Amino acid sequence: MPPRYALAGGPLALGGEVVAGFGRGSRQLGVPTANIPPASLAAAGRLLPFGVYFGWAQVELPADAPAADRGVHKMVMNVGRRPTVNAGGEESSVELHLLHPFAADFYGRPLRALVLGHLRPEVRFAGLPQLLARIRTDVGIARVQLDDPTWAAHRADPRFRKL
Ligand code: ADP
Ligand code: MG
Repeated sequence: MPPRYALAGGPLALGGEVVAGFGRGSRQLGVPTANIPPASLAAAGRLLPFGVYFGWAQVELPADAPAADRGVHKMVMNVGRRPTVNAGGEESSVELHLLHPFAADFYGRPLRALVLGHLRPEVRFAGLPQLLARIRTDVGIARVQLDDPTWAAHRADPRFRKL
């Protein structure tokens, strides 16, 4: 039996340079999201429905960055139009929250990710508090799921750099 949340079609590798997002408060909500160009997803060769995903990610940082920051971290990824905060008509975005307290921002750095699970479709919440509550739940599920041996094994994927 495939594990819960397994992404249809199997793990999806993607990579892109961390770009400036909409600057609309992900960080203020306590969940900074590293945005990568939506084209990175198209380049990965598979279309993901708008929604929330989890997996592993690594930021390529200079050798003098803290070793902990250069590792492979749990992540939650949102793909979509962010209908709770956007009026509509905006381009879709791809953004990843890494479950790690980084010492510094990493705009402009290459980010690699392996998407393993699909948590839920994108939905419009009644307001920011409801969205934030759901994000916390998403992060909690991802944190637990990624410790499952099925998902944990992918942390050692050869696509990630060994330190
Ligand atoms: P933006 O709208 O520019 O994406 P955010 O408020 O979403 O701004 O913050 C994202 C930035 O925060 C990332 O590009 C990255 O440089 C930095 N950052 C720091 N810690 C994290 C983290 N744990 N996960 C994702 N990004 C982080
Ligand atoms: Mg962001």
